[in-house]
Amino acid sequence: MLITKEFRFDAAHQLLNYNGPCANLHGHTYKLQVSVAGIVQKSGMVMDFGDLKNIVNEKVISKLDHTFINKIIIQSTAENITLWIWNQLEEFLPLQKITLWETPTSFVEYVKSENK
Ligand SMILES: [Zn+2]
Repeated sequence: MLITKEFRFDAAHQLLNYNGPCANLHGHTYKLQVSVAGIVQKSGMVMDFGDLKNIVNEKVISKLDHTFINKIIIQSTAENITLWIWNQLEEFLPLQKITLWETPTSFVEYVKSENK
């Protein structure tokens, strides 16, 4: 079973060597969904949503919210931000899928592969 928690954060970024509006310094309200997989425990839960929230807030949201993302991720595309988020969380959560929206109509999905 998959359980998912949704987050939002505001941050500035700027794409390097890019010809388009994202080459200028600007901001987005990013939406993030983190999905973890597991079996339903005796508690009736795969994982407590509160624990999931606390881990993502500590490892990701607190580091990206109201920052200039390029200081952490030099080429701050949605793809690279998603990879960075995955790497931050992989050690702490049974990640299955991460979805990051840069705008209401543009998003990146990173799904755990079987042969990873
Ligand atoms: Zn942008």
